[in-house]
Amino acid sequence: MKTKRDFLRKIVEEDLASGKYEKVITRFPPEPNGFPHIGHAKSISINFGIAKEYGGVCHLRMDDTNPTTEDTKYVEALKDAVKWLGFRWDGDVKYTSDYFSKLYDYAKELIKMGKAYVDSLSEDEIREYRGTVTTPGKRSKYAKRSAEENLDLLERMKNGEFKDGEHVLRAKIDMNSANMKMRDPLLYRIRNAHHYRTKDAWHIYPMYDFAHCLSDYIEGITHSFCTLEFENNRELYDWILETLKVKPPRPYQYEFARLNINYTVMSKRKLLELVEGGYVEGWDDPRLPTIAGFKRRGYTPESILNFCESIGVAKANSVVDISQLEFSIRNDLNLKVPRVMCVADPIKVTIENYDGFEEIEASYYPPDVPKEGSRKLPFSKEIYIDRSDFSENPPKGYFRLTPTQPVRLKYAYIIKCEEIKKDKNGKITEIVAKYYPDSKSGSDKSGIKVKSAIHWVEASRAKKVELRVYDRLFKCESPKGIEDLNPNSLKIIENALVEPSVIESDEVRFQFEREGYFYKDPKNYSKEKPVFNKIVSLKDSWAKKVKPKKATPKKEEAQQVEGEVKPLSKEEHKLFVWYTKELGLNSEVANTLARDRNLSNFFEEALDEVSLATTLANIISNEVARELKQKSLRELSFTPKDISKLASLIDKEIISTKIAKDVFEQMSKTGTNPEEIVKSNNLMQISDPDIILPIIDEVIAKNPDNVKKYKDGNSKLFGFFVGQVLKATGGKANPKVVNELIKERLAEG
Ligand code: ATP
Ligand code: MG
Repeated sequence: MKTKRDFLRKIVEEDLASGKYEKVITRFPPEPNGFPHIGHAKSISINFGIAKEYGGVCHLRMDDTNPTTEDTKYVEALKDAVKWLGFRWDGDVKYTSDYFSKLYDYAKELIKMGKAYVDSLSEDEIREYRGTVTTPGKRSKYAKRSAEENLDLLERMKNGEFKDGEHVLRAKIDMNSANMKMRDPLLYRIRNAHHYRTKDAWHIYPMYDFAHCLSDYIEGITHSFCTLEFENNRELYDWILETLKVKPPRPYQYEFARLNINYTVMSKRKLLELVEGGYVEGWDDPRLPTIAGFKRRGYTPESILNFCESIGVAKANSVVDISQLEFSIRNDLNLKVPRVMCVADPIKVTIENYDGFEEIEASYYPPDVPKEGSRKLPFSKEIYIDRSDFSENPPKGYFRLTPTQPVRLKYAYIIKCEEIKKDKNGKITEIVAKYYPDSKSGSDKSGIKVKSAIHWVEASRAKKVELRVYDRLFKCESPKGIEDLNPNSLKIIENALVEPSVIESDEVRFQFEREGYFYKDPKNYSKEKPVFNKIVSLKDSWAKKVKPKKATPKKEEAQQVEGEVKPLSKEEHKLFVWYTKELGLNSEVANTLARDRNLSNFFEEALDEVSLATTLANIISNEVARELKQKSLRELSFTPKDISKLASLIDKEIISTKIAKDVFEQMSKTGTNPEEIVKSNNLMQISDPDIILPIIDEVIAKNPDNVKKYKDGNSKLFGFFVGQVLKATGGKANPKVVNELIKERLAEG
């Protein structure tokens, strides 16, 4: 890996050039109290990376000085992480606990030098005596103890003669130091606890500051890299080594910025809370920022290392946007993995005029990827396409299959829709189509223009697979904890279909065209029950949708909107044009959104492929706009994504627009996600004529007068009947279906 010279590398180069050290020895010193996360990956890539680049070695050291939180399972996870990232530690894994005896000897030496003493103040007193940043501290009266007394007490502390907290060992430095860390810092504390390695041999455990510099020295470390929060500890690091007059060469500490990423938590304590509370499925849950999680999700080690390289090594803390990490994996997979077809929400297409069976040779990679390989795609009369790739009432700008618009089946033929079959609920069950025999991809002579190519799978050979679609674990940028969890971070799609080559192939990562990158789940995948984890989407769905390029509006577009009081600003007008011309919004809705920065931002964030822009815009320009009159954006209890979900429930005709209003009310009160509200309140729309017809009949029977008036020509009464039926179903009946059925019934007899 070629890496830019950052300030740490410059130091190393200078030290080698000046002959200060013959060989670079670094260490990665985690505490085995949790699984390593992406922040540790940065530290691993720095410590192991630098050693490798300059011909040195790196140690893996378990900094295990805290008996109560450590465990061998974390040791194993740390080893796995380092190996998976492609690094090898020098020699055996090291443990600070292996140095307990040596550290103890150093402590006795400090006592003999008059540089350390056993203090018996209480914890509170120690804190009080320490003073503050602005006031000097006061030394404990116990600092006057003789070396003999101190040695005796320390020995007895070690042997377990005292209770936790009864005594501590402190360095005798300077109670007036401007650096609080130098005000007689603690070196040892009593912990009458069982240690996972040294068992019950010790009743005192060294503090980080004492153990770390000396462990570094014992191992011959040259450069001790750590994160910025240890800046003030450096003086103490140096004091201990200098006071003990250790034989050179000795290590030096250098600090770099800690990695923080938005939309996630990174401290092991918070991760532990998620794991132990059952909010995720273990430390390797693909939504966690743990290395085990990334590994299981399908990230490659290269993508993590490239990410670490791209963020660089700096001296100032900052927060890295998670999309940078997502970019890194996308970028890595883009040129690596085969592209195949998977239909997530299948709808059957029968190609009437096709007979027989053929196999189409299709490349795994597009022409701009310098890789070779292809597979055979079976093709026959019966195929599946994705439900979202057909629209009966297409919005403007819809380029896929419609009753009147043909489309290309990728790698295969152009088809056109002949007939739509529906079940009694009005849900499309099948599309009958015709294909153009001379339109085959690569040798198309049909002359037919299509606007897009959609993906598909052949029905008899397709394999059913489960897709686990992950989204960010937290819904806000700087999550505090479990209260900020994204309730929709995992969606399971059980009946997706893939082309057979995916199962037959030994490849584990794929690009499912238009769906994203997927990985055969290393735990649950089997040929009989294939399970795929979504690694990352094909494009950044969280980024704001790209605005239209600056263009001088054409004359007719520049006209003022009818009935407008205040003309739209240039910026607003551009939005208005985009909304109406590209997204097909009506001018009233487009106008409402374009005029309000909050609303237009919200709308653009909610825009995705899940819901129709028109449905979304209606909800935002009415419901959301109303909420925003009383609340600020940050006070809203729903996200743009939630609203997009709500819109898609309407689009899929799962709920009516009327019910959607009720659902929205609940969302804004409770913050529950729309799907859950619909499910738990049983709000699914009724489209079944068998349920609706008896209700219509009842309404007709109860209102003979109105029926007579209607039949005599008062057509306005039609609305009355629709209203009555909707009311009888609590608004749950599908208005379209009700309309049709009433028309039929009233026309009879
Ligand atoms: P956490 O606060 O997440 O528990 P930690 O610092 O306590 O992390 P350690 O196991 O002590 O975790 O860290 C091992 C090494 O990894 C240390 O050198 C530490 O500085 C480094 N490290 C930990 N978190 C990060 C991070 N977010 N970015 C860069 N380095 C990190
Ligand atoms: Mg720590």
